[in-house]
Amino acid sequence: MFLIGEAMSLWKRWFGKRSVESPQAPAPLLPTCPYCGAGVSMRPRRSAYVIWDCECGAVGSGSEIYPDLDEVADGLLAALGLGGSVSEPCVPIGDSGAISIQHYDIPRSMREFAEIVAGHGFAAFSGETTVADGRIYSVWARRSAIR
Ligand SMILES: [Zn+2]
Repeated sequence: MFLIGEAMSLWKRWFGKRSVESPQAPAPLLPTCPYCGAGVSMRPRRSAYVIWDCECGAVGSGSEIYPDLDEVADGLLAALGLGGSVSEPCVPIGDSGAISIQHYDIPRSMREFAEIVAGHGFAAFSGETTVADGRIYSVWARRSAIR
């Protein structure tokens, strides 16, 4: 049955409607800007987490996994050219050095992130954003002088 099904789908692929079949692209994780509500654009991906830009000057990043937010914030600090880190260092467990654990305290990391960017004139935002296929936890910063 499987082979017949395969053959049929091949048949359809070759002899069926061939005009506008495009490969299925993954749904883009594009939230709206938390400051102005506009759609944002995604930078070419260079690190573990996406970086978004809004026309209003906001820059954001995010992850579908809440405990990742401290590292998301670290990446955003780097993207903003500010440096610094709000994530906890990895702590080795046992003597082997092979296993380590990274604690996280996201609310504290978000407070530290807000403090760091505020020192450079940015207003911080963090929270849950709805995207096409679910939700994503995101961190943002925007120059607070911009209206
Ligand atoms: Zn915006």
